[in-house]
Amino acid sequence: MISASAAVLRAGDRPYAIEEVILDEPGADQIVVQVAATGFCHSDAVARAPKFVQVWPLITGHEAAGVVERVGSEVSGIEVGDHVVLTFAYCGTCSQCADNHPAYCETFVQRNILGLLATGGARATAAGDESVGARWFGQSTFATRTVVDARSAVVVDRDLPLDVLAPLGCGIITGAGTVLNVLDVRPGTSVAIFGVGSVGLAALLAAKAAGAESIIAVDLHPARLELATELGATATILGGDNDSVAEQIRKLTNQGTHYSIDTTGVPEVILCALGSMRARGVCASVGIQTGDVVLDGHALSGKQLVSVIEGDADPRTLIPHLIQLWRDGRFPFDRMLERFPFTAINEAEKASLEGRAVKPVLVMS
Ligand SMILES: [Zn+2]
Ligand SMILES: [Zn+2]
Repeated sequence: MISASAAVLRAGDRPYAIEEVILDEPGADQIVVQVAATGFCHSDAVARAPKFVQVWPLITGHEAAGVVERVGSEVSGIEVGDHVVLTFAYCGTCSQCADNHPAYCETFVQRNILGLLATGGARATAAGDESVGARWFGQSTFATRTVVDARSAVVVDRDLPLDVLAPLGCGIITGAGTVLNVLDVRPGTSVAIFGVGSVGLAALLAAKAAGAESIIAVDLHPARLELATELGATATILGGDNDSVAEQIRKLTNQGTHYSIDTTGVPEVILCALGSMRARGVCASVGIQTGDVVLDGHALSGKQLVSVIEGDADPRTLIPHLIQLWRDGRFPFDRMLERFPFTAINEAEKASLEGRAVKPVLVMS
């Protein structure tokens, strides 16, 4: 029997309640992981939105690191005792997965958002024999244990701190993967980043590691802009007036930037990100879009707008690469982490939504 303490969400407008649950037995291609720490990602709060999730009650959480306790009979390359970073679910066999683009898996939505397509071990059971959804992003890591597909686990060296590694599986690979995989930022170029929460800051750190010469951070929170400067932004702009922001960026970069990244999903900000670039610039939109983007006749003018999911990352290569950059002192993403005890999950969520904590990490013990 796989028991766990889990933060169960029973309705969109209720706080998390820590409850004892029993997880379903793992399938042949799954593993059981004792969660050491888990990041709080903005998407976890999105689960609260009306009609977004189809399985209630639900255990959310989808950025974790921990220790493998059991492995299914068909699992290879992972052993009991291995330390792992967990990431999103994907099928491994569809055309996108076969092409090494698992973030575009044909079954991504079912496996990660809806939590319906489980390969065994779809649910947990709470007191009174009540079913609880436990496949959020294939993980549901706001719990002391989780059952995940083996392919969602990346084995890491045992000397690495699990509370630092935990957030790598979603927010950090989204920002860094966008810069390294999609935009392929070149040395000596310029990048504007709209919204420097954890995704934007990860993009900033990756742009710096890639050798970008000019990195401009735009945000509504002055404290985040300060952190962006400490982490390598060459200029910061307090957002709000989009026309003025685009004009300031064009002035700073002589004709506009080579790349821009929008993490906000706000249509006006996406248009501002396009307007701040020079011709042939590429703008990556990585946020959950909050409305329609209307492009007037001049909005693109030889520019590209691309939507990016999970940084188009293959986690099995990107996560080890980012860990190596971090060991080399070239990707100090640990600077944006703030630790909370697991039992303070409601406080961590509040701190995240109010912009006081850039990347909360819940530590299980
Ligand atoms: Zn697939
Ligand atoms: Zn996420």
